Amino acid sequence: MRIGVAGLDGRVGRLLAASVAATNGLEFVGGTVRRGIDPSASRFGSIAALAAGCDVVIDFTAAAAVAEHAARLADSGVRWVLGTTGLDAAGEAALRRAAGTIPVLRAANFAPGVVLMVELARRMAAALPADRFDAEIHEMHHRDKRDAPSGTALAIGRAVAEGRGHDLDAVRDEARRGQCGPRRPGAIGFAVSRGGHVVGEHALSFTANDEQISLAHRAFDRAVFAEGALLGARWLGAPERPPGLYGMEDVLGLRSAAPG
Ligand code: NAD
Repeated sequence: MRIGVAGLDGRVGRLLAASVAATNGLEFVGGTVRRGIDPSASRFGSIAALAAGCDVVIDFTAAAAVAEHAARLADSGVRWVLGTTGLDAAGEAALRRAAGTIPVLRAANFAPGVVLMVELARRMAAALPADRFDAEIHEMHHRDKRDAPSGTALAIGRAVAEGRGHDLDAVRDEARRGQCGPRRPGAIGFAVSRGGHVVGEHALSFTANDEQISLAHRAFDRAVFAEGALLGARWLGAPERPPGLYGMEDVLGLRSAAPG
């Protein structure tokens, strides 16, 4: 399987390139970097040029690049593993359009433990009444992270909302400061910390008057994202995979447990 890496000089992209090159059965084709950065032998001048020689492109770049990547990759017919987070509405729409033409695997977090945490969050939310258990999500990442709350925190929040039969946008609460008043019933609260080199920490708590239940995940090394994305790339690259939008819950066989 021929693999290209969009975001080759990024924190995750560098690990991916090394992992692909070291894995039997995978061929590392090369990658792209942000425009204006020096090209070298393994760096292609455009996503389309990279895609032309690949079976799967793994993309850990920036939200601003997603709409263009979606269009170019759909044109080329290559399969697309997308790890980039913080997509705006146009990026989301472009992603869904591309998934009508090519197989796309998108995950806000490729760590298997987080995929399980999202699924458990959905089940806990379905079991714990929203009028008794206040759901709060806290995330912490390194000081250079650009989007907030993290894509993973939002995925956990979406799972909680889905488990309760709510729409996340109607219940999310990220702006508590000053005279913000009491907590809204049924709200899903988000708190964000940034600092140092923290790879990624997420915690979800359900707090009632008399008890609290929590889930937490810590990534110690970005290799967990690269290895998860590679697992996903091999799954997505299987010849029988039809066009569509997939998640790591499909790769890990957890999809059937999700309601709807
Ligand atoms: P980084 O800043 O270290 O690397 C970004 C890479 O993208 C670089 O190679 C850069 O050259 C390239 N790039 C930047 N802007 C671009 C543009 N406009 N067009 C094309 N390429 C561009 O970032 P990182 O920590 O490697 O994270 C990259 C993305 O992946 C972020 O959105 C981050 O939130 C996300 N991420 C996802 C997961 C996951 O498991 N899904 C894990 C970690 C990070």
